[in-house]
Amino acid sequence: GNKMEDDIAKGWRMTQGVTMAEENDCLFCKIAAGQIPSTKVYEDDTVYAFEDINPVSEVHVLVIPKKHYPNAAAVASADPQLFAHIVETAQAIADKRCDGAFHLLFNTGEAAGQTVFHCHAHVLGGKPDAAKLV
Ligand code: IMP
Repeated sequence: GNKMEDDIAKGWRMTQGVTMAEENDCLFCKIAAGQIPSTKVYEDDTVYAFEDINPVSEVHVLVIPKKHYPNAAAVASADPQLFAHIVETAQAIADKRCDGAFHLLFNTGEAAGQTVFHCHAHVLGGKPDAAKLV
């Protein structure tokens, strides 16, 4: 398009906290948009949940906001209601899959093992896979 349209689109993305690079390159943005396949567990207007590709326990589901945020604190400060919805979604999944008992984990920062920089809640329940925890 023309430059003015590009600038308007860019301005809108910045107000949404989404940069062009993130939109184009983010694995979990693409999974949420259905552009990369995943095993869906739950979806609504604002969140998407899917099976982790490398499960470390009997239940290992990832819950993500559809909108791109780099980590949990970014969601919590920008949109506390959305953050609460992620937690409630994790609980609902655990209610169905592992009697409501689960660990909720948000890795934040490379040094803490974060590898995908789109906020995701690990919902971990049931028996851990001992081989993967060594
Ligand atoms: P992190 O280490 O907290 O960033 O977690 C990233 C998680 O995403 C890991 O548990 C990976 O196994 C998982 N993962 C990475 N790529 C995919 C995918 O394409 N589908 C499902 N899970 C994925």
